[in-house]
Amino acid sequence: MARRQGSTWSVAVRTPVGACSAVLLALVVLLAVLAPLLWGDGAAAIDTDAIGQGPSGSHWFGTDSLGRDIFLRTLVATRLSVGLAVLATAIGVGAGVVLGMLPAVLPRWAGRLLTAVIDIAVAFPGLLLALFFAVIFGVGTHGAVLAIAFAMAPAFARLVQTLSASVAGRDFIAAARISGVGRIRLLVRHVLPNIGEPLVVNATIGAGTALLAFAGLSFLGIGVQAPDFDWGRLLREGLDGIYVSPAAALAPGAAVVLAGLAFNLVGETVAAVVGVRTRVSGRKATPGSAPASAERSLAAGKPAGDEVLVVENLRVAFPKPGGWVVPVRGVSFAVRPGETVGVVGESGSGKSLTALAVSRLIDLPGVVTADRLEFAGTSLLTASDRELRGLLGTSLAMVFQDPMTSFNPARRVGGQLAEVSRQHHGLSRRAAFERAVDRLAAVRLPAARRRARQYPHEFSGGMRQRAMIGMGLMGQPKLVVADEPTTALDVTVQRQVLRLLARARDAEGAAILLISHDIAVISQTCDRMLVMYAGRVVEDLPTADLPGAARHPYTRALLATTVGLETDRGAPLAVISGRPPEPDRTPPGCAFAARCPVASERCLAEDPALEQAGPEHRVACWHPQGLQPAERRGAARGEGIGVSVVSGQSTWRTGGAG
Ligand code: SF4
Repeated sequence: MARRQGSTWSVAVRTPVGACSAVLLALVVLLAVLAPLLWGDGAAAIDTDAIGQGPSGSHWFGTDSLGRDIFLRTLVATRLSVGLAVLATAIGVGAGVVLGMLPAVLPRWAGRLLTAVIDIAVAFPGLLLALFFAVIFGVGTHGAVLAIAFAMAPAFARLVQTLSASVAGRDFIAAARISGVGRIRLLVRHVLPNIGEPLVVNATIGAGTALLAFAGLSFLGIGVQAPDFDWGRLLREGLDGIYVSPAAALAPGAAVVLAGLAFNLVGETVAAVVGVRTRVSGRKATPGSAPASAERSLAAGKPAGDEVLVVENLRVAFPKPGGWVVPVRGVSFAVRPGETVGVVGESGSGKSLTALAVSRLIDLPGVVTADRLEFAGTSLLTASDRELRGLLGTSLAMVFQDPMTSFNPARRVGGQLAEVSRQHHGLSRRAAFERAVDRLAAVRLPAARRRARQYPHEFSGGMRQRAMIGMGLMGQPKLVVADEPTTALDVTVQRQVLRLLARARDAEGAAILLISHDIAVISQTCDRMLVMYAGRVVEDLPTADLPGAARHPYTRALLATTVGLETDRGAPLAVISGRPPEPDRTPPGCAFAARCPVASERCLAEDPALEQAGPEHRVACWHPQGLQPAERRGAARGEGIGVSVVSGQSTWRTGGAG
């Protein structure tokens, strides 16, 4: 990797822009270091016999009002001019990073206030801000440095916020949050390293701007003061005698332009090498209060008490102009220890949002409400952040859909796994690393110790998913939430990952909540299946009796679309005609009615509740398929509603539609 980066740099330096930037930068640095040593005395030497002379063989750009050589003074001024510009940039970038990160750790109201202040400051022209701060901090070198730094800070704060937001939506941040990593550590260890490259590029270009701004302040007489001198002061002195000797202003003017050009070209070259990422996404939030318009409640009775996860009447809502859109509408289910529960449905059915809500990973401004949302006996809605960090970090593991984004690309895999044990088990760095190696070996990663020292990009997609499962096994997970964990993998690796999840369940006794759009995967892997449609569970049934046990027309349609060995390859593939309704256009009756072959008038008018259709079987349909006529009449009248049905280890009371 280091060699590849080295070759990228050497290729970049061979381009015209790269070559110019390298030459100019080397020249500026050399002059800044050597000029005061070589020509410092010459630049300060007063010669009363040579006052105000024009260009000559002994004074290339003439002399000033005290007979000092303007060319030597310009060369010597390089150190102060460039040094102060770099110092102002460093302070400005540092302040910008702090300001940009603060909203993520402050209380919400304070974060919003700070963001508004930053937005207002960014709207002001930089030079105006610099002049404003120069007046506040006072005339002189220190005041000018602070003025320029503070004028730069809002733009960098905005940049940091934008870049952080682009990183905040990525899976490795969610994984770190689930691991219980605190906010400040999350920012420092996971966000900052991933926005460092574009920050460096912008800081380099910003140094050129700071150089020009500094020259401007000194030119106006509020920057560097005599006897010190920088290019701005020399420019000012040269301008006083420009009609007598134009060359006196030319030397410092050319120096400012060349140095500014050097910084900008270096910034462009760095940008070409590292690339600047500018993706934008949302911020994260914790569950909040219920929107007034959140839809009806769906009651589920009290589970038996040993469930690892209890979800009752879960709703996820997002604001829209004039109201709320509710993509998850009253979902209820429970997961028992060691059980594998699959959640299946088309895109937009709310299955991934349900998983994210369970893991407390819903983005702002999303709002999560529920009558009960309990994990391992602790309410996820009322527990403190500290309590949840400890609980989720050790007991909940999450495997994401895209193995490319599951790990922090800037950190070694072993270190990321070890962070969990260091955070929650108080292990030393060495012991935590050994545990990480052990867990990587447990998920059958070959050469686990060597792999632990590698970066995520050195792993294949399947290896990353294994490592992500290994990360979940750093603690003693009670529940593994796997959100489409095999979608991005080829078929062979899919099987390996699913087998690995099953092995983790057997070894650790963990329950698994597997989200997938592939009903074949769910039916082959899970004990029980929740079928979701338009934000609701429409059927909850054991997978053992499939396909004959399915009652809901949507479940049956999904099963009919699966392709098996017995499928007639010559016949057209079965599809479900039509599309699910948009979350903000859910019809008043059954959401599946427009696509349902057995829909009736009642289906269009009333939304059926999820009702018991047998032991461990619930279905939300006015005309469940495959029932005997007597059973169907009973279901349609609501018989069984409100009746507690003991099914194995849990008891469910199905509720009415209202
Ligand atoms: S309630 Fe009616 S429309 Fe909905 S799935 Fe059942 S039969 Fe079809």
